[in-house]
Formats: sequence, C-alpha cells, structure tokens
Amino acid sequence: MNTVANVVVSEAVNQFLARDLGLFIDGSAQPAHSPRRLDVFNPATGEVLTTVPDADAQDVDRAVSSARQAFDLRVWSGLRPADRERILLRLADVIERHAEELAQLETLNQGKSINIARAIEVGASIEYVRYMAGWTTKITGETLDVSIPFPPGARYSAFTRKEPVGVVAGIVPWNFPLMIAIWKLIPALAAGCTIVIKPSPETPLTALRLAELAIEAGVPTGVFNVVTGARECGAALAAHPGISKISFTGSTPTGKLVGAAAVQNMTRFSLELGGKNPAIMLADVDVDQAVQGALAGGFLNQGQVCAAVSRIYVHRSKYRQIADGLADIANAMTLGPGLDPSAQINPLVSSHHRARVEQHIAQAKHAGLRFLAGGTPVEGAGYYVRPTVIGDVPHDAAIIRDEVFGPVLALVPFDDPAEALRLANDSPYGLAASLWTNDLRATMNLVRDIDAGTVWVNSHVPLDPGMPFGGMKQSGMGREFGKHAIDAFTETKSVCIAH
Ligand code: NAD
Repeated sequence: MNTVANVVVSEAVNQFLARDLGLFIDGSAQPAHSPRRLDVFNPATGEVLTTVPDADAQDVDRAVSSARQAFDLRVWSGLRPADRERILLRLADVIERHAEELAQLETLNQGKSINIARAIEVGASIEYVRYMAGWTTKITGETLDVSIPFPPGARYSAFTRKEPVGVVAGIVPWNFPLMIAIWKLIPALAAGCTIVIKPSPETPLTALRLAELAIEAGVPTGVFNVVTGARECGAALAAHPGISKISFTGSTPTGKLVGAAAVQNMTRFSLELGGKNPAIMLADVDVDQAVQGALAGGFLNQGQVCAAVSRIYVHRSKYRQIADGLADIANAMTLGPGLDPSAQINPLVSSHHRARVEQHIAQAKHAGLRFLAGGTPVEGAGYYVRPTVIGDVPHDAAIIRDEVFGPVLALVPFDDPAEALRLANDSPYGLAASLWTNDLRATMNLVRDIDAGTVWVNSHVPLDPGMPFGGMKQSGMGREFGKHAIDAFTETKSVCIAH
C-alpha cells in the first residue's frame, strides 16, 4: 500500500470525544431523560469512539418545546434580516476556524477520506452557509393588482408575505452528516424558523459540535437544538404536533413513514430519498473522461452518496474500452482508513451497512454475474468493501433495481440510445443521471426525456448551493438549494386591503 503518514488527530477532537455527551437543548448540552446510550463507532477499526443519548419521546418533546418557545417569542425571526444574515455569516467564519477539527471528527466517525471531509463535508458546507446567509435579506412576496368587483366602486390592493413556517424538524442520514445537517439548518434559519436536528444514530457527533459553534456565532438559545437517537427518537419527532415542517433526508422506506406521520398533523414535509442513478455513455463518448467521471461519481464516499452513479449504460462500440478502463483502475485502488490521505477506498459507515452491501454482492454472484473488479471480502478490522465493477448486467438483475449505497458499478451495453433511455427510466427512482456525449441534439433530447431531478452532462455528482437538488418519482418530494430551499421553509400569506 502506498501510504503516506496518517493525519494526527487534533487535541480538540480528543477533548470532544472524552466528554460525556448529552443532547443540545436550549443552548447547552443537557443530560437526557432516556437512560439508553448509543455506541458511536470508528468504521476504520470497529472501536467505540464515544456514546451519545438514545433520546426518547420525552427528550424530543423538550427539544421541540425549546424550539417552539424560541419561535413564538420571535427571538430569531424578530431580528432584522440583516442581523440574522450577519450571524449566519459569522457562523460560516466559526466553522472555518474549526474546519480541521470538524473534518477529523467526521472522518473518525463516518469513515470517509479526510480529503473529502475537508473539501466537501466542511469546505463545500462553508460555501453553502455563506450562499444561504445571503437569502436572509432577499426573501420577498409579490404585489398583486387584483380585480375584485364588489361592492361596486371598491378598490383593493393585495400583496403576499413570505413568513417562516415555524419549528422545523431536520432528520439527517449518515452519509454526509455535517453537510446535510447544514443543508437543513441554514435555509431554515435564513427563513426565520427555529429547528430541531436529529442526526443519524451512526453519525451524531458533528451535529452536536455544530450546535455549540452556532451559539459561539451568536445564534440565540433555543433556535437550534439537537436530539440524538434511533428510530423511536425519529418517529417521535416526525409525529410531534409542535413541528411545523419536516425536512427529511434518508431512505425511501423511512421517508414514507415520515410522510405518513406528518400528514396526521398536516405538518409540511419534504423528502430527499434514495436513488439508483444511471449514466448513459453514447457512441462519441470521450473514454478517459467517462472512466474518470464514473469512478468519481460512483466511488465518492465509497458510493454512499444518494446521487452516486450506479448503473452505467455504454454504447456497444465503446463498451469494452470503458469496462476495461473501470476494472483496471478499480482493481488497483488502495484501501485504508479515512485518516490516511493516500487511501483511495475507505471503510463503509457501519458493520450493519457493510453486511447489507455484501448481501447485494453475494446475490449478484449467486445470479452468475460477471465481476470485473471486487467481489471478494476484505479480512481484518474495519468495514471495508472492495470497489466492485460488474459487467454485462441483465436488466432484470437485482443489482440494477435495488439501491446498494456502496462502491458497486453495474455496466450494461446498448446499441440504440432510445433503448438506453428506456432502461434508465425503468426504475422507481428518479434522483440524478448523467449523459456522456458531445452530440448536442442527442443531449438536449435525453435531458428532456430522462426521469431525474438533476442531469449532468460529461460529469456526475457536482452540486452547487444555487442549483436546485431533489428527486422525481420515489426519490423524493420537493427541492433543496437555491430559492427552493427558502420556499421550503416559508408559508405564503395573502393580504388584501380594501381602500
Ligand atoms: P434511513 O432512512 O435509515 O435514516 C435516515 C434518518 O431517519 C436517520 O436519522 C434515522 O435515525 C431516521 N429515522 C429512522 N426511522 C425513522 C422514523 N420512523 N421516523 C423518523 N425518522 C426515522 O437512511 P440512512 O440509512 O441513514 O441513509 C441512507 C439513505 O439516505 C439512502 O437511501 C440514501 O439514498 C438516502 N439519502 C438521500 C439523499 C438525498 O438528498 N436524496 C442524501 C443522502 C442520503
């Protein structure tokens, strides 16, 4: 293994891990009512890093009450928009000052490469905070020239106000724990809401630290609370009548439970769910660019990315070159802990999730599919799965249908782009897709016809805070990022004045 020295864990991280961690309610860490604790693991070693409370319904109620009181007293929404913006910009500065600490904490807990933690989990999140902070001062309604005809001679003027929706529940998965918490927190705060964040039980640490940094930046107490816990905690939050809006990111089955719970209280909800994202490579594809793009888009964070490419449809004229290119690189990739900056593949998040991914791989083997790379288990400590490439996969194979959420690429040759489009769209999911071609006419037709909330051309997976992101079909409801994120956390009130 071509290993450079591992990153030395900072004193700030060690101090955080040595603490007796509680819930974050009303501006400070607090012991939970629930006596249960959750072990938090280091996926690179399988060792327990620390424990956090497994909050119960009473704990959730306390966090929601704190956020509700802060909302009703208008301690946040009552500030001038420019003052809220300034505090959020200050939060970006505070996160930046603690960037290395947060990146190391995430790598230790989630398993991802320190390079990705620094550049994306923390670096891209800081840009996102600054982008979203700007919306605070740009939330506007409309003026309406209405034509109401009665009583005769009356005149009316109407306008709309965009008002904060209220108390938000942000339910977060384990793949990008800090970044996805920030995707919910900052637009909710920009809109004037208060929030309770529930991180995943696997990866609760950076959300707890973020809440402390928010206080340091000047976010008033009660505005941002964090409850750690598993299913009971999530279900109690989703069903709580004090929540006005649920912003959920996670799997499609859990998203359906959340939606069903929300409807009981008419709680607004938006869902960012799973994907089974296709790439379509046409006959004129640039082979090197496509191979590099598919590897980056498929193996980023070990494929634990909702928008990761997982089905690759390649024109038969380029199929062999692309299959060989992917297999050669995947077979040569180095495995190692996220704290080793030279390791190209890092552990999956948990032993449970690794078992799930291995089950998908075993099923593909059992079906007699052709493995071009990977497919053999990794011995020793840590939750590793080899980067896996499977060739000539038939459309009825489970590996084409099911979300694996691991480092597994399935390749399918095609002869006719219309056939590739039909196969790509024949999925319950519709989160993201990519096209690999410089044929403009083909591109524009496919962009229109493909069922996906985001379509990249000659790349796969880059996001921007201003570019709407979300899923079609069973990949979700609603859009995050840009103005859509603000809309998701506001209600529209019409005001009609007779004069
Ligand atoms: P998950 O659905 O198991 O859990 C997500 C969150 O929901 C966790 O915090 C969990 O504790 C909580 N939860 C569990 N049961 C709940 C309930 N009954 N009510 C309320 N909350 C509950 O998902 P995961 O395994 O943490 O994450 C992986 C999944 O997330 C994948 O399917 C992936 O595609 C998806 N994801 C989607 C996006 C996107 O933006 N579309 C982004 C990242 C991940």
